[in-house]
Amino acid sequence: MTFWGVRGSIPTPDEPQARYGGNTPCVLLSSADGPLISLDGGMGFRWMTAELMAGKAGRGQENLHLMLAHCHWDHIQGIPFSPMMYVAGNRVTIHGRQSFEGGLRETLLHQVNPSYCPVPNFFLLQDVGATVEFHEIKDPVFQIDRVRVTSLELPRGNRLACSGYRIEDRGKTVAYLTDVEYPQGDPGTTPAALELARGADLLIHDAQFLPEEVQERMNWGHSTYRQAVELANLAGCRRVALFHHDPGRTDEELDALELQARAVARGPEVFVAREGLSLEL
Ligand SMILES: [Zn+2]
Repeated sequence: MTFWGVRGSIPTPDEPQARYGGNTPCVLLSSADGPLISLDGGMGFRWMTAELMAGKAGRGQENLHLMLAHCHWDHIQGIPFSPMMYVAGNRVTIHGRQSFEGGLRETLLHQVNPSYCPVPNFFLLQDVGATVEFHEIKDPVFQIDRVRVTSLELPRGNRLACSGYRIEDRGKTVAYLTDVEYPQGDPGTTPAALELARGADLLIHDAQFLPEEVQERMNWGHSTYRQAVELANLAGCRRVALFHHDPGRTDEELDALELQARAVARGPEVFVAREGLSLEL
């Protein structure tokens, strides 16, 4: 597992945020003989896929599954700028939900409307470049080769729900819950969150806010580090990565946030997700 983008909302290519990184969400899961899975397609997706394509002399042979939490800019802005999308022979399956604008494919086609985007939309229309397929999630459990995926909707205050994921492969489990806002601020009230995170080896969780910030940011659709750790406590996770950092949060502030988060952990190992960090599960 490698973090390619850990920042929430907007990219932050600025010195005070440089150490933890400024690209928006993208996490790569890979194994020697299993499928390649990308959690979200933020700006980190552009750099991650560029590295996957490097040295392949323009030949496409990657088979990637891209799981979207939702279609807000920070989760999809790397897709049109990904070199993987323009090379024939690559196959990209985009998994997600969209409950308006006519479905997932149509929503992403809006993203590459020439009024907003310099990149031609052919890679989504399947006539040139990578073969792109769309999986609009209806059944919450599905299989990608030997990998079992569970995807459930997560609350975001008064906003559209977001998709959370649980990915299980050969006895190892990663849970990915970002852009979630719990009713009454209590993750224990959300059975979907508990089910996705149950016993995970690694929980990657939104930690955009400090507890003292949340009152004035109700219905922004995010969590505090305390809620992230509390879910890991309740669900018996082995490790929790604090993720989707507030764009204004500096490296020093994230160092302090990590210490505060560790103080409320009852069992799980807690760390702040950092761009470039790889973990063996
Ligand atoms: Zn987001």
